[in-house]
Amino acid sequence: MYCISCEYRLSGLEAGRCPECGRAFDPADSSTFDRRRRGPQALLGIGSALLIGGLSFFGLQQTILMKGLQSQFTAFWIVAGVGLAAGVAAAVLAAWNRSWLGRIPLLLVGIVAVWAGLAFGHDKYYRVWQALPDAPDEAYADSGPVATLLAGWIPGGIFVVGVFLPALLVFSWKRKQRRSLAPPLPTAPPPPTPLAPPTVPPDAPS
Ligand SMILES: [Zn+2]
Repeated sequence: MYCISCEYRLSGLEAGRCPECGRAFDPADSSTFDRRRRGPQALLGIGSALLIGGLSFFGLQQTILMKGLQSQFTAFWIVAGVGLAAGVAAAVLAAWNRSWLGRIPLLLVGIVAVWAGLAFGHDKYYRVWQALPDAPDEAYADSGPVATLLAGWIPGGIFVVGVFLPALLVFSWKRKQRRSLAPPLPTAPPPPTPLAPPTVPPDAPS
């Protein structure tokens, strides 16, 4: 049990105020303290952000170099799909993380991954289109990828936040549910045993 504000160790203390910073807490109400220190949560967030960043970098590199694609649409979705998958993973992990120090690196990595997927996917789209035998003139009007490169953080941000917020609601709802299922305080008196209903003696005359 740790203080939400300053992470001072509160285990064994009675309900009241944190001796370190004065924030009120109540051992009976788990929303008033942290069960675990937030340090590991922040490290977990930063570590998984680095992992997702590394994996999506590798995935984008592999899909950008992919050869023999027959359709520019497939080419776009293969590359953009890597970024979108990384964005979903990062947003869900950020929602699951209990510290903003862990959430922010994950959200940023997710947005950059979606952004990179869109920009490189758009670029790949034109490259594959231009390589097709019957490429029309529009295939060479390839200023689109530059626009995506400049503005891609907007759809990237909308996508990642759009996954993060519902996931955050689901996780906090689940945690609240788990809290309400927690066993009652040991100081609570046991419920009185209900009286047995009066039974008719088996040999009573009917
Ligand atoms: Zn404190």
